[in-house]
Amino acid sequence: MNRAEDLEVVDRTVLVRADLNVPLDTGGGARARGSGGAPPGEQSAPPGQHSIADDGRIRASLPTIRDLLARGAAVIVCAHLGRPKGDDYAERAAGGPSLRPVADRLAELLGQPVALADDVAGESARVIAATMGAGEVALLENVRFEPAETSKDDEVRGELAARLAALADLYVGDGFGAMHRKHASVYDTPRLLPHAAGQLVLAEVAVLRQLTTSPARPYVVVLGGAKVSDKLAVIGNLVGSASSHPTTPPSASSHPTTPPTADRLLIAGGMAYTFLAAQGHRIGDSILQAEQIGQVTTVLADAAKAGVEVVLPVDHVVADRFAAEAEPEVVHGQDIPDGKMGLDIGPATSDLFGRELADAHTVFWNGPPGVFEFPAFAAGTRAVAEAISAVTGLTVVGGGDSAAAVRQLNLPADAFTHISTGGGASLEYLEGRQLPGLAALEDRS
Ligand code: ADP
Ligand code: MG
Repeated sequence: MNRAEDLEVVDRTVLVRADLNVPLDTGGGARARGSGGAPPGEQSAPPGQHSIADDGRIRASLPTIRDLLARGAAVIVCAHLGRPKGDDYAERAAGGPSLRPVADRLAELLGQPVALADDVAGESARVIAATMGAGEVALLENVRFEPAETSKDDEVRGELAARLAALADLYVGDGFGAMHRKHASVYDTPRLLPHAAGQLVLAEVAVLRQLTTSPARPYVVVLGGAKVSDKLAVIGNLVGSASSHPTTPPSASSHPTTPPTADRLLIAGGMAYTFLAAQGHRIGDSILQAEQIGQVTTVLADAAKAGVEVVLPVDHVVADRFAAEAEPEVVHGQDIPDGKMGLDIGPATSDLFGRELADAHTVFWNGPPGVFEFPAFAAGTRAVAEAISAVTGLTVVGGGDSAAAVRQLNLPADAFTHISTGGGASLEYLEGRQLPGLAALEDRS
């Protein structure tokens, strides 16, 4: 893969696809990626400061942007935010979210103005691209305002990619969190311009490669989060399920064929309830993906065959509703009574996970073990984070929400070897799948 740092960029315009998909405060303590923003009546805070709940992804994008600017490039940043809704550009742009708060934050962090185009690759973007000079930076509006960005139709994506490519001389892919998407700005645009990988992408891939090539053992994986369906494929690989081996041929050297199995899999968060249900436990009103029970049962059997220890919660913190103000209550044992939902692992589970992590030499953690956004249900996430930070060896946290949770805990900067900006992307890498965005950057033609 070409490195952005090796590109000749003086007086050239570089299109940088970054991942600036930050969680935004919706006002009530809850968060939504890209939706909401400041509630009415809270306009007094400085623009761009109050609405971004965690600016980690913006900070992670700075090294590449700064390097290109310092070497005399004009930098046009392209990124998405949230999931704009609507059938066409106009509807989506009207509904938002706009990248305005991100542009403001990026300007603060860079210490220089960031022009925000009024559109993605239209008149406004063209005028900015044509008039900007060396050392200047601009941001295109939310690329997902363009329905073509995520189209399954190659031609439709290609048309947007051509408009994006026309804005610049060179392309740098640095949006690791979007690399698993076959999207116009990620997959098609780099094919139209001389391209290279940015520093963030190279750093992420270097760490993930370490995880997938003979990890020091014991190798312990902690998985949480809301849905088991998001993570079944990676779980299958970690326990050596034959059915989950990669279907795409691993053409590029950086992609593992069959990723190594884990020694232990600690399962928490919302997905744990589908596992507990599969084992015949009562889970009350906890989040359940009933249609996944068959697959979960298969995975548990595969794990037993492969000698991978699967550890499930042994107690819970429950409430009678999904709300920050709900009264937390500890339920001992694996069963949850009717009318209650599990929102965090209980203290005995935190202790158990701590013991299971104590002798680990490699740890990968994706997905918070509880609804950490609600302070009353964040103790399990803190306990897991602290246990992992005590591990000597390679410790990697992956996932947008997991990374935000970890930063919210204010652990020391060196608590983990690496905090990945990409959840889905890092999981797909661990599955041994080829990431479309990486494949496009590896292609030197
Ligand atoms: P990541 O972004 O790190 O990959 P996910 O998106 O998979 O993580 O999951 C994060 C979400 O999972 C958080 O918003 C958290 O509130 C939620 N979650 C964790 N535990 C539970 C639970 N017991 N019930 C419902 N949601 C949960
Ligand atoms: Mg998430």
